[in-house]
Amino acid sequence: MRKIQMVDLQTQYQFIKLKVDKGIEEVLNSAQFINGPAVKTFQTNLETYLGVKHVIPCANGTDALQIAMMGLGLKPGDEVITADFTYASTVEVIALLGLTPVLVDVDLETFNISPEAIEKAVTSKTKAIVPVHLFGQAAEMDAILKIAKKHNLYVIEDNAQALGANFKHKTGEKVKTGCIGDVGTTSFFPSKNLGCYGDGGAIFTNNDELAHLIRGIANHGMYKRYYHDVVGVNSRLDSIQAAVLNEKLKLLDSYNQSRKESAEKYSHFFRKNPKIITPKTVGEQDSHVFHQYTLRILGADRDSLGQYLTDNKIPFGVYYPVPLHLQKAYKSSNYLEEDFKVTNKLIDEVISLPMHSELDDEQIQFICKKVLEFLD
Ligand SMILES: *Cc1c(COP(=O)(O)O)cnc(C)c1O
Repeated sequence: MRKIQMVDLQTQYQFIKLKVDKGIEEVLNSAQFINGPAVKTFQTNLETYLGVKHVIPCANGTDALQIAMMGLGLKPGDEVITADFTYASTVEVIALLGLTPVLVDVDLETFNISPEAIEKAVTSKTKAIVPVHLFGQAAEMDAILKIAKKHNLYVIEDNAQALGANFKHKTGEKVKTGCIGDVGTTSFFPSKNLGCYGDGGAIFTNNDELAHLIRGIANHGMYKRYYHDVVGVNSRLDSIQAAVLNEKLKLLDSYNQSRKESAEKYSHFFRKNPKIITPKTVGEQDSHVFHQYTLRILGADRDSLGQYLTDNKIPFGVYYPVPLHLQKAYKSSNYLEEDFKVTNKLIDEVISLPMHSELDDEQIQFICKKVLEFLD
């Protein structure tokens, strides 16, 4: 059996090596390392794939969130509502911009931000909502858009974990996640569903004016060379990374399909065990691209299971061990523990198993056998 890894980028690379190497070599020969043709091509390719008017590539997914918020003109003191149970990037950039983060609870079944909790947290200072499509599954966007419309709020989708997922509106219309709200962001960190070989990110919007503004902000606030109209940042996607992404974007749907099939195989083994809650896909199968395959372990100690897996050379992850409202950097006396019933529970129950596009049946069976052996 091949060594089990959380993410197996070496095996993935072996399958695409010739094409990726050729793309990188073209950049090396052209020496157009910054904003070379590969970046422009990738931008267009991703716009077509997502069916969105504008993709603005940038340096990473955290910058993408920051630039999106700057583009929307959010000002110090403005409140931004986001999920308590996610990676820290969202709350980090809110805080860095002097905005006020308002963390709210998530849904027990999907791990995604709870629309009811959002509604409860809206005040006269609220300016935006940042739903995160966590672990690859689309958040409840219809309900979120409705709240946003009612209170005149921006919606910024953090799509770092769900690139390629679809969201079906109540009307039946299907849209790619990240292209539903006012603006969407993603990350091309190597382990993401579409990962490059370093850092990378992008911002999406259908709004022409906002796209123009954001493009300038990502480039030192310049709209004409050496004329700085607004305070910007320096955030670019390298041409070499764009060359890698151009090859991998062609395979994104098949990569996501493999993840879904692996998730289905895992769940087949686990579904009947009363100590395991398998991940729930809401709506159609294509609304979840399984960035992570995350179980809830009930009536058994999650950390002892983790130790058992480690002893059997099976890697795992705990996403996330501490809710954001209890992180030292983001603690606030405004938060009441009773408002975080779900996240406070999830941090003790969740465990994410190896998930990537190269997992094979033998590996999945071995992992399942060991998990069930421990819980027996
Ligand atoms: C990975 C990730 C980010 C940040 O992306 P970077 O490219 O590492 O800056 C932001 N939000 C979520 C939910 C992520 O998973």
